Amino acid sequence: MPINPQTLAAARNGTATREQLAELLSLTDPADIAELHAAAYATKKETVGTVVHFRGIVEFSNVCVKDCLYCGIRKSNTAVERFTMTEDEIVEAALWAFESEYGSIVIQGGERQDAPFVDFIERALLRIKKESGGKLGVTLSLGEQSLETFQRWYAAGAHRYLLRIESSNRELYQTLHPETHTYDERIAALSDLRTAGYQVGTGVMIGFPGQTALDLADDVLFFRDQDIDMIGMGPYIVHEQTPMAATATEDFDGEANLDLGLKMIAVTRLVLRDVNIAAATALQALNPTGRELGLQAGANIIMPNITETKYRSAYQLYNGKPCLDENSTMCRGCLQRRIDSIGETIGFNQWGDSPHFAKRTSK
Ligand code: SAH
Ligand code: SF4
Repeated sequence: MPINPQTLAAARNGTATREQLAELLSLTDPADIAELHAAAYATKKETVGTVVHFRGIVEFSNVCVKDCLYCGIRKSNTAVERFTMTEDEIVEAALWAFESEYGSIVIQGGERQDAPFVDFIERALLRIKKESGGKLGVTLSLGEQSLETFQRWYAAGAHRYLLRIESSNRELYQTLHPETHTYDERIAALSDLRTAGYQVGTGVMIGFPGQTALDLADDVLFFRDQDIDMIGMGPYIVHEQTPMAATATEDFDGEANLDLGLKMIAVTRLVLRDVNIAAATALQALNPTGRELGLQAGANIIMPNITETKYRSAYQLYNGKPCLDENSTMCRGCLQRRIDSIGETIGFNQWGDSPHFAKRTSK
């Protein structure tokens, strides 16, 4: 079935129903998909432009108190060797990013709420801010925390936070998590992030068992209704040492998940317009040019890995994570070539904040 011009127009002008968004997410004809991507790219040009912003990502620890059923570093996976980078190593990686003109970093890791951990992150943030003269932008991705912790880390210099809802459908959320990880707590954490003043990022996993195109359409409407500033979402990929592998492995279709991931980027760009959208590394795990395809489908952010090479193999959330044996300098050169190849430029030394955030806070 060819793409319906009314459906595309409705997505663009914010009047699309969940059924119409699901229709776009269900396109299969390559020409139709190309048209969807081109429409999203036109919206991207109009709203955020074609400058790609980098967030160097430091995956500093795989110690986690949670047991998400899909994740390779979940607490119950005893096959993982646990590590936590030192404060010096984190600061060093951050300063490497700063000197490489990346503009911003993301500090990501397993979830912990204990007081020594909260202090540790606070100290690292204060040092990064001081040693970069306040110039390096910092995003955190450290799971659910109390409002007080979010506030302390904000005061120490972090100004964006990524916390995926994983699925906006309450029942599906529960199929992805043990009973003790609740949907309501996740929603409350997203609201606390906003209260604390962060640019709030969320996202979902795309293509996990039981999820339909209508669920994904609802996810896009959830991002809109929550007035989200940044989107970080990516295809679900099986990790064999997880409970979900038992049900997900047989039907896992990497190519289909990549296509769906790209369609989600395009539909999200059409509907949300001026938010930052990351081309997730998981796209590249499924296709060597996955992140460039993400940019061409409407994403405007890339998160190059700046973790020291020796730690990379222990931070495997899913199978087939790319660039495990590369170092950060190699990643920089490789990305520059990839971005040149699609005719975009890199916003070196800029924070590249979400224009949506600027608008919602100036109201
Ligand atoms: N502990 C933090 C940050 C690290 S996990 C948190 O959970 O927010 C970051 C993201 O990795 C998660 O939000 C999840 O969406 C993604 N992830 C984990 N396992 C995955 C898998 N098997 N496939 C794709 N994405 C996965
Ligand atoms: Fe921990 Fe995040 Fe993995 Fe869940 S997704 S187990 S919180 S690292």
